[in-house]
Amino acid sequence: MIIAVSTSDELQRAYPGAEITDAGDGVLLPGLVNAHVHLELSALTPGEPPGRFVDWIKRLVPRSPVSADVVAEFARRGVATGVSQCLRFGVTSVGDISRQCGVTRPLLKRGPLRVVSYGEVQAMANRRGLLEERVAAAVDGKDNSDRLRAGISPHAPYSVEMGGYRRCLEAARERGLPLATHLAETADEAPFLAKHEGPLRELWEYLGAWDDAVAAFAGGPIRFAHAVGMLEYPTLLAHVNYCDDHEMALLAAGRASIAYCPRTHAYFGHPPHRWREMLRVGINVAVGTDSCASSPDLNLVDDLRLLRQLAPEIPALALWELATVRAARAIGMETRVGTLEAGKAADFVVFSASGNDPLATVLESETLPKQVWIAGEPVQISCQITVHDS
Ligand SMILES: [Zn+2]
Repeated sequence: MIIAVSTSDELQRAYPGAEITDAGDGVLLPGLVNAHVHLELSALTPGEPPGRFVDWIKRLVPRSPVSADVVAEFARRGVATGVSQCLRFGVTSVGDISRQCGVTRPLLKRGPLRVVSYGEVQAMANRRGLLEERVAAAVDGKDNSDRLRAGISPHAPYSVEMGGYRRCLEAARERGLPLATHLAETADEAPFLAKHEGPLRELWEYLGAWDDAVAAFAGGPIRFAHAVGMLEYPTLLAHVNYCDDHEMALLAAGRASIAYCPRTHAYFGHPPHRWREMLRVGINVAVGTDSCASSPDLNLVDDLRLLRQLAPEIPALALWELATVRAARAIGMETRVGTLEAGKAADFVVFSASGNDPLATVLESETLPKQVWIAGEPVQISCQITVHDS
């Protein structure tokens, strides 16, 4: 734990005899927080950008059943790769979405990363009956540990019905759990919700799992989340790539945070994200990578580097906040991580940098962290990290 933050001289006076580690010239930052990732998909690579969002989903979703063993092995491999990437890139805490949380949590609970593990719920049309089973798996706290906290994530408004969303919110409220969802990621969500039309309906036909009992909702995904009551909860909303002025006002009046995933956003070619306006109206915005199926890797600093290029007028400090203090708040970990303050976890990352604005220097180079510490222990970032199985 961090017990004090000050200059070297003052600390040596206050704590005579303390062991000293000199990290050299550079910047010492709080361990980085990736607000939105799917570690279990880290064995994938993005490939060529898809023509349409649903074409990308079709690549990910097998049409024929895959054995549970194959699915579990794929998730285990993904988690091992994902954790090792996070450490190499200076990420010490993650908001991880996991469809296979029964497989990933036992691996992560004794791993090095701090993880909010949002168990993913999908339950729409022919899959409606899976709701309670999925909710129970998500909220199960049996793997909670010093490093892992269970949360719940209804996947998206095109895979969970309004009743299912309400059930997830209620389950989160009852237990005080972190809640996340994918929202307004694609422009296809509004016509799907309103009239069950467009590419997302086509996806359901492709899966052969549609039924006509799904209720329609006019007004788009953000008003849908508002109608569910999710905006009054500290929900993490992944993406929000499509947001009009009225929807922006709804978000500003609520308590939800946004996880903007810059490189994933660029991969799909969405119109410019309104993150700067969101910050101006008081919405908490964090950065995430999303999964290795849409991001080249889990190097969260490269997402900040893209923002540096897109928004050179934003001070470097404000960009780093998106991957530290704001991201910690977005995943409900702000009392433990995200800043260098007495009482918080001793998680930090050191980048070599010099000059008048070292925070900008790091974003204008391709440098990797030279040291990463979690809970006061240096992490071996140069070697392969093995996630131990239970
Ligand atoms: Zn995602």
